Amino acid sequence: MENPKLAINGAARAVPDSPPESLFKWPILTEEDEAAVLRVVRENKFSGTDITEEFQRQFAKWQGRKYAIAYCNGTMSLTSAMFAIGLGMGDEIICPTKTYWGSVSQAINFGATAVFCNINEMLSMDPADIERCITPKTKAIMVVHYFGYPADMDPIMEIARKYNLYVIEDVSHAQGGLYKGKKVGTFGDIAAMSLMSGKSFAAGELGVLVTDDRKLYERAMAFAHYERNNANYITECEDLKDYYHIALGGAKGRANQLCSALALGQLKYYDERCAEIRKAMNYFWDLLDGLPGIRPIRVDESTGSNMAGWYCPHGAYHPEELNGLSVNKFCEAVRAEIGDKCWPGGNFCLHTHKFFKTFDLYNIGKPSRIAYSDRDAREEDDLCKPSEEMWCFSVPWFKHFDKEWIERYAEAFRKVIENHMEIFDDAERAQGGRWHGTSNE
Ligand SMILES: *Cc1c(COP(=O)(O)O)cnc(C)c1O
Repeated sequence: MENPKLAINGAARAVPDSPPESLFKWPILTEEDEAAVLRVVRENKFSGTDITEEFQRQFAKWQGRKYAIAYCNGTMSLTSAMFAIGLGMGDEIICPTKTYWGSVSQAINFGATAVFCNINEMLSMDPADIERCITPKTKAIMVVHYFGYPADMDPIMEIARKYNLYVIEDVSHAQGGLYKGKKVGTFGDIAAMSLMSGKSFAAGELGVLVTDDRKLYERAMAFAHYERNNANYITECEDLKDYYHIALGGAKGRANQLCSALALGQLKYYDERCAEIRKAMNYFWDLLDGLPGIRPIRVDESTGSNMAGWYCPHGAYHPEELNGLSVNKFCEAVRAEIGDKCWPGGNFCLHTHKFFKTFDLYNIGKPSRIAYSDRDAREEDDLCKPSEEMWCFSVPWFKHFDKEWIERYAEAFRKVIENHMEIFDDAERAQGGRWHGTSNE
């Protein structure tokens, strides 16, 4: 090609050099964090609950809910939330299909069925597709505030009230975020989330569950915390009192106090760090405003909502505005300009994984997802096909408002879009994406 403009065709890269490490480094760990962890080590407090209980108190206050319980990870906190609401054999739980597996795969542990609904253009649960999924067996809706975007809670809560369903919020991507002025994690009956080291609220390997309901709190505690399943904590659930001292889920879910110590430190600075991330990310997207083919996944902050710590920021991709250029090829061209940080997809849609089609956990010769159901929910998975074609791509997750660097990265995206006709695209128009967040990046 003569005089190519794009790096993928041999031209100079838009961002040839490396940014300062602090621009993307996360979590931000200081000597204060190191000292807190060292104290746990020196005092051999890995397994106790004193630091964890202090974290729970502070987190509940910050979250604006009465109770918080820390767990070894987010998956376990969400499993406990399912037990807390009494999810059981034959029950159905509705979940958006595009999310991390740990939002809903645990239904299998209760003989319950995951039912998938579509996402909307913001990659968030589409409230308009929820009622289609409701049957007399529906017990709960699992709402995911995906990629920091607050799910549309007003219509979701209205549907939940109309059909008398529990709402669990998976806040793993959106700790501290707001929906119309109110914190996500305070809408549903119960909320649970990951505080894993790659997440927005990052504290090693940790999970946390919050609720205002004493009974849900006690059930969630008894499920995975043998050492707190006793008369000090379980005071109102009469039906649980015969079972003190053993974790009722048959698995231990206690937090490692190294992580509770880290979480206490992160909590102290979390809001101010997120505010800077929002300023940086909003600036980045403002610079790309009006370009064809790409739209930010973000909310209008003047509505009182926000993107929390903007975990795993993505844009929505519209190939029809770029002469059909596939999202895979688009991302490849951007990566040629900036080196990394632009990958297609987000999570694959869960309804497409064989785990939800054929896997037989109970070893009874029947797919576990529907083993105790009087219908075959798999037959409706095809209705989630539209979600498979909601294209998206990741963008750099700026941790600091460094205007100059943000402008350079934005310029790379602009350059690819403005010269997209230069890209020969014979790539298969595949969905792109991953089952978990760590490959490809
Ligand atoms: C990470 C994540 C989980 C699970 O949390 P872990 O701490 O990794 O067990 C659950 N839901 C979502 C949406 C997640 O991103």
